[in-house]
Amino acid sequence: MKRILVTGGAGFVGSHLCERLLKEGNEVISLDNYFTGNKKNIVHLMDNHYFEVVRHDVTQPFFIEVDEIFNLACPASPIHYQYNPIKTVKTSVMGAVNMLGLAKRVNAKILQASTSEVYGDPKVHPQTEDYWGHVNPIGIRSCYDEGKRVAETLFMSYHEQNNVKIKIIRIFNTYGPRMHPNDGRVVSNFIVQALKGENITVYGEGNQTRSFQYVDDLINGMLAMMATGDDFLGPVNVGNPGEFTILELAQKVIDLTGSKSKIIFQPLPKDDPMQRKPDITLAKEKLNWEPVIKLEEGLAKTITYFDNLLKEG
Ligand code: NAD
Ligand code: UDP
Repeated sequence: MKRILVTGGAGFVGSHLCERLLKEGNEVISLDNYFTGNKKNIVHLMDNHYFEVVRHDVTQPFFIEVDEIFNLACPASPIHYQYNPIKTVKTSVMGAVNMLGLAKRVNAKILQASTSEVYGDPKVHPQTEDYWGHVNPIGIRSCYDEGKRVAETLFMSYHEQNNVKIKIIRIFNTYGPRMHPNDGRVVSNFIVQALKGENITVYGEGNQTRSFQYVDDLINGMLAMMATGDDFLGPVNVGNPGEFTILELAQKVIDLTGSKSKIIFQPLPKDDPMQRKPDITLAKEKLNWEPVIKLEEGLAKTITYFDNLLKEG
């Protein structure tokens, strides 16, 4: 039995990861400060005696004996990470230092949940891991993008200087049950708007693209990455290469919900990337992984989740 620490364990992705790690027979500790996470996401796991919940902020050191660390703590939606940009940078950077220090002390393997945002508004399409990105260092997204880029730097440096066993994955837009209904991300926004019969808010003309990955596929990719040998560090893209415009997504959500909502157009936020699609050649080769859940299938499951959530009130 492995003992595994998941920072950000009460968040959207973290809660699915904790659930899966427990199912696979591990002892799991969720560490979270509940900034964007919620106990409701993990309450169904709390009867399991091999699950522990710790309220802690990753910007402060934390001591524990573990075999593996998944470092997910960081707000991920633009409205949440832009709410307190200084704290977002601290969470990424000091969180990485603290968790890498812990990994070094106890000789644990540590995986960083990095992001496609390290590519910024990309000039290379689809994005391959060797692309260095196109990020505005002082823009409204920089607290997140640059924080995550420094975290990658720290991971590599701890590996090179101190032999820490690191893994870096770059996660592309992921959706599914337990996304925060009000966090402003496009999939949750559109589904909630469609279910309530409200206008669907497309920013800009809606011709910007994203590639949407269902959360179960991401969890499979994360576990496959953690299980790779010590010689493979990443970074590796983990995302679904199916690319859609935001307008196409809006239409799909309307079709799947049977909603009477109208699409309206609102201003495009500053520095909003125009296109995003992962090249997953490396993940296929090194992790023997690729996503299997089609957008319609994943959206249907997510719609059911939000429908129940809204009915609960
Ligand atoms: P989320 O906001 O639901 O989860 C983040 C969790 O981290 C929350 O539970 C939050 O309370 C916690 N947290 C935030 N700051 C903290 C701090 N200082 N100390 C302790 N806990 C803290 O977001 P998510 O979508 O589940 O994302 C999880 C990770 O995956 C993040 O690191 C994010 O950057 C990365 N990621 C997600 C996506 C995506 O599309 N969901 C894409 C790329 C990368
Ligand atoms: N978006 C939109 N309407 C919304 C929310 C988001 O058109 O109600 C757009 C947003 O401008 C971006 C895309 O959808 O182009 C994805 O936004 P999200 O915040 O989900 O993720 P990110 O921009 O970080 O990829």
